[in-house]
Amino acid sequence: MKQFRILISISFLIISFAALSNSLSVEKVSEHLYVLSGKEYTTNIGLIALEDGLVLIDPMPGNNQFSELDREIRSIYDKPITFILNTHAHSDHTGGNEYFKKQGGKLIENAFNLDGFTHIKVKSHSAIDNIYYHEKSNTIFVGDVFDTSWHPTFYSGGIKGFNAAIDAILDLGDDQSLIIPGHGVPANKSSLLGFRKNTFEWINKIRELNQKGWDVERIMGDTQVQDILEKFNVNNKSSFLPQKAYKRFVERTITVIKREKHVKS
Ligand SMILES: [Zn+2]
Repeated sequence: MKQFRILISISFLIISFAALSNSLSVEKVSEHLYVLSGKEYTTNIGLIALEDGLVLIDPMPGNNQFSELDREIRSIYDKPITFILNTHAHSDHTGGNEYFKKQGGKLIENAFNLDGFTHIKVKSHSAIDNIYYHEKSNTIFVGDVFDTSWHPTFYSGGIKGFNAAIDAILDLGDDQSLIIPGHGVPANKSSLLGFRKNTFEWINKIRELNQKGWDVERIMGDTQVQDILEKFNVNNKSSFLPQKAYKRFVERTITVIKREKHVKS
């Protein structure tokens, strides 16, 4: 079953900070699929073994961890890196493309013909969000459409795009499918449904208060708003969101609501 181990390699040359950055988390999902992540961005990196090569999804552990990730990959599978896929164009997901292209990987925008994969495109977190379903391991990579370590970020697609993206993800695989969010712990379809429910609850509450004429500060101070926000704090972090991020989340939600006046959530 799932194994979780944290690899810490200590550099004897550079102590302190280097020792902190030299760690990757490595999770085995199946014989054919691993999920790794680095400390700097916590981006979930997919490593999938095909018959004669490896596919990497979002290979960005952090700017100082490329060679460490490369070593780790080679210690897991004795196969060449053949393809690189990105869930979307943000640098915390694409930052390793150049490095792994030099290791032989070919960056491909479309995985429609990649054996054993289903690839769909949605628009929610960014203009193009790629969803990759790997059949053999029944695993769906959904990028930042779904984040289990942060609040939802549906700013590109708005309410409509977010809803359509979640529907499209739910259509893939089955009830047992593992869902790999862009960041945070792996999840399943019932937690994705919970995430959508909480997101709509959030949007509806912000809309209600905004229509009452409340300003951003007052909305932020509302205990019901704070309670809904806390539902996204899956890991029960003591301080989930910095004030600045909280404020921006409220502001950007209001922008989406105004843009989609007639869309129900
Ligand atoms: Zn992103």
